[in-house]
Formats: sequence, C-alpha cells, structure tokens
Amino acid sequence: MEGLAVRLAERSRLGDLDLDRAVFGEIFSDHMFSMAWRDGAWRDPEIVPYGPIPIEPGAMTLHYAQMAFEGLKAFVGVDGRVRLFRPDRNARRLRLSCRRMCIPEIDEDDFVAAVTRLVDIDRLWISDRPGHGLYIRPIVFSAEAHLEVRPSRSYRFIVMTCPVGAYFTSGDAGLSLKVEDRFARTAPHGGVGETKTSANYATTFAAGRQAREDGFDQVLWLDGSQHRYVEEAGLMNVFFKLGERVVTPELNGAILPGVTRESVIALLADRGIAVEEREVAIDEVVAACDDGALEEAFVTGTAAVVLPVGRLSFKGRDLIPLLAGAAPLARSLHDELTGIQYGRIEDRHGWNRPVDV
Ligand SMILES: *Cc1c(COP(=O)(O)O)cnc(C)c1O
Repeated sequence: MEGLAVRLAERSRLGDLDLDRAVFGEIFSDHMFSMAWRDGAWRDPEIVPYGPIPIEPGAMTLHYAQMAFEGLKAFVGVDGRVRLFRPDRNARRLRLSCRRMCIPEIDEDDFVAAVTRLVDIDRLWISDRPGHGLYIRPIVFSAEAHLEVRPSRSYRFIVMTCPVGAYFTSGDAGLSLKVEDRFARTAPHGGVGETKTSANYATTFAAGRQAREDGFDQVLWLDGSQHRYVEEAGLMNVFFKLGERVVTPELNGAILPGVTRESVIALLADRGIAVEEREVAIDEVVAACDDGALEEAFVTGTAAVVLPVGRLSFKGRDLIPLLAGAAPLARSLHDELTGIQYGRIEDRHGWNRPVDV
C-alpha cells in the first residue's frame, strides 16, 4: 500500500499472555492499522501499536451509528504458512456496507493489503493449535464532531486483530436455538439486514438475553414483517437438511451474505448437492421435524465455521433433539472447510490468501 507508515511497538505484550486461554474478543494483538478520510480522500495509512484513540464526544458515530465492520480470520497452516481466508469477499462486503451507510468506500485492494500487512506483522500472535487463529476486525466510522443528522465529512478506518481459539465449546450437544417470534433482527424491504452495520447488533441483545435466560444459546430469527420465514440464527446463517435436500434462506436483503455461507454452498455443489436458496417457512421446518424429514440443521459463520444445531424450540415446544453428535453433513463440511483453511486439503477454489514474509 502506497505511503504506509509503520511504527512498531517497543515491546510485544505476547510474552505476558497465555494464548491458549484467550477468550474470544478480549485480547488485542500488538498492532492496528489506521487511516483517515479527510477532504475527500483516504489518507495517512499507518500501522501503529494497538491502543486508545482520541475521540470527541460530539463525534457523529456515537450519536447516529454511521459505521460498518467486518470479521475474518487468519490461520497458521500445518505447513507453518499463514493464510487469510477469502479476504476479497470481506473487502467487497465492507464496500457495499459503506455504500449503504453513505460512508466513503474503501478500495478492495487497499483493504486486503492493509489486513495482509497487519497480520504479517503480528503473525506470532497466531497459535498453531488446531482450531486456533487470528480474528480480524476492521471497522469504519464517522469521526466528525457535529450533531446535525447527516453523513459525516470525516471518517476513520481501523483494523484490529484478536487471537482466538475454538469459538464454541458446547461439544456434541450442538447449538440450542429458540425460534424468536416476538422481536425482529431487521426490517424487510429496504432495511439494512444485509449490511454489517453496528445498528443491527445492539438491537438483538434483548432477544439474545431472553433466550439465554430461557436456557438457549441463540435465537433463530424470523422475518421482520410476518414472523413466518426463517432468516438467520444469532449472527450466523442457517441451513437445513431435509432428506437428500439442503435448503437455506435466500439472500432477500434482510439476510447477511456470509462468506462461510457462500463457501459451504460451493463445497456442497462440489459434492453434487445443489443447495436450494429460497424462502424457508418456519411451518415447513416444524412439519419436517414432526414427520422426521429434518435430518440436520446447522449454522455457518467465520467464528464458529459450521456448527450443528442440537435443539430447536418454537413457541415453548421443543421440536426435536436433533442429535447433533451425529450431524454427519455439518461435521464433514466443518472438517472440509477447516481442512482448506489450515492447508490440510487442497484449496481447489483458490480461497486462501497466503501472507508471505
Ligand atoms: C457476520 C455475520 C454472519 C456470518 O458471515 P461470515 O462472513 O460467514 O462470517 C451472518 N449473520 C450476521 C448477522 C453476521 O453479522
């Protein structure tokens, strides 16, 4: 990246920490990438020690949430090489989120170059233990101090990274989901559900907290207009195996287009299974549970990769114990995807982006 300034930390914090005990999102690695939008251009790209940034109380993002973020991972492969998984997809999605939120778009090549350089500098933060990696969190937000309700004139783009272990440790039980029939994640028809913008996340906390109090891990979201069609599970995309068929809700504008979702659809196509992307009524899922057609349900996302659903509850009724321990399709997709990410399996789609020294 042109004009990138690098100022390294005087001392790494890595020696003070036990990475194997890192809880997701709690520890940040030594460096962050930063650049600023001023006077109509992205300027001053730099990699500096991770740390607090000055922000004015009047900064527009604190008031109106004009911001977007991303989430992707880097891995150390079995051959010792560091790889990013499909960063071009995150670059594109961030650009589309920015466009929707009236934030100046970040060039996709610049995004990938920034992430690559940052990961290269903090490569020692990536544990080579199975299931471990470096979670990368880019954010872009409005920085102008002004209370008028309009797009900001200045922005910051920051990329930080966190060491991560295996995200869920629920073991063979799988994820337990409560079908959410009261709250909505997002609005249909013209909302921002397909955008990774911060406003979509705080609004889910009330439903998530209630689900946990009721003994579930996450909610299964239904559409925001009729509460009839399945959309997502927590912050993950969802798939159902009905006999020989695999179905997933179609990208209707309210659903976040997951990179993992797209990758799983491609892996299934390689196996000769054409995933049906269409409306999935919760009534269809309930009926399939009752007549035994529902063989598996699983969720996909960068953090969890592919995780079987072990329990589904609708209007206080436990539909079925899905016996996640078996979940052969979810497990084989998980193994194939992580096999590619860790360089154990040939990367036939060219998804990995090596971070070369
Ligand atoms: C990020 C996210 C996903 C998963 O996307 P991946 O690119 O697979 O990580 C799914 N749903 C929501 C709401 C998300 O924010």
